[in-house]
Amino acid sequence: MLSSKISKITPSFTIGISTKVNELKAQGEDIINLSIGEPDFPTPVNARIAAVIAINKNKTKYDAASGLKDLRNAIKNKLEVENQLSYDIDQIVVSSGAKHAITNTLIALTDHGDEVIIPAPYWVSYPEMVKLTGGTPVVVNTKKENGFKLTAEELKASITEKTKLLFITNPSNPTGSLYSKDELIEIVNVCIENNIYILADEIYEKIRYVDEFVSIASLSEKAKEITITINGLSKSAAMTGWRIGYTASNKEIAKAIASLQGHLVSHPSTISQYASVAALTECHHEMKTMVHQYEYRKNEAVKILDQISGLDYIKPEGAFYLFMDISSYKEKLQYEDSYSIAFCDMLLEKFKCAAVPGIAFGNDDFIRISYATDIESLKEGLNRLKSMIESL
Ligand code: PMP
Ligand code: GLU
Repeated sequence: MLSSKISKITPSFTIGISTKVNELKAQGEDIINLSIGEPDFPTPVNARIAAVIAINKNKTKYDAASGLKDLRNAIKNKLEVENQLSYDIDQIVVSSGAKHAITNTLIALTDHGDEVIIPAPYWVSYPEMVKLTGGTPVVVNTKKENGFKLTAEELKASITEKTKLLFITNPSNPTGSLYSKDELIEIVNVCIENNIYILADEIYEKIRYVDEFVSIASLSEKAKEITITINGLSKSAAMTGWRIGYTASNKEIAKAIASLQGHLVSHPSTISQYASVAALTECHHEMKTMVHQYEYRKNEAVKILDQISGLDYIKPEGAFYLFMDISSYKEKLQYEDSYSIAFCDMLLEKFKCAAVPGIAFGNDDFIRISYATDIESLKEGLNRLKSMIESL
């Protein structure tokens, strides 16, 4: 009965675990949720006020498919000032979250049979998004010793004549790694030589603990031509439920995205868009404060992890995740299909702490925790993880 497209995909692990945790909590269970990557901070106050004003002034009608002019201007300024990227506003399309910006890009660029290279570990939704929009995901394993960052050699080895697009997530979900400028230049050069577009998912760009961040499209005019930059307000401004993301791309792609979006959803909620104008222009201080908090939590989390014998993790330079290697306990746990699922099931059922199994990101030897949660819960959750490992 269902289409072949839909029968090939699985539900979102991250959303699924979090929904399960909320159900258990509602039943009175004392669960620490370190699974979903969702800022625990409130949306900045001026963004909320802007939304209320928009509602009260009846700014609640249809508008341009590519997004409010005011918002695209605010994004244009952000890209100029923070990323040294100069775009016209008709190269920017505002969508309903970064998820939507990514699927729009895939619909605009990929035909049936086109291959999309996804470095693993990857964010859980990428392969499913590619399958749903008709392309073929090509998962390329990266190495732990490289911080799970794709190298130019690994990229070259995975290119075929059908390769159309490469996904780069910087900073990475789930690893927290950040690419250096030199690493990006090598990757971009391979893409330029082979006529491959780059989907640069930079949604965690503002959440980082090192100074250097280079937006891929800013590397050269040629890089800008082949790159579709994805960003949004969900993570940086704690605005997950408002559903605002965007693409910045060359004019042809932007025009295609705007027309397909016009047919499929018209545009994202105007109320959320007014809130986002305020977030981008008036809320820098709150955003910075959140990043300082994440950094503090990360440092505290790492102190606990360093006390756990046999546990290794990728050094987090950005985003709000810790990707932990649990392979040294493999013989100590009974499992059938997936080790990381068995590990997370035990952590949730016996120790009441939720984490995401690495298999959701394409690596069964790891688990991911999010530290976008208050410090007490974070410490308690990690102490429960420590107790579980000690009990094995
Ligand atoms: N990309 C990455 C890497 C993410 O972790 C997320 C998290 N949801 C998204 C995109 C989607 O973000 P949004 O909430 O804006 O759709
Ligand atoms: N991106 C976040 C995560 O990886 C939120 C959940 C989701 O959108 O999948 O946990």
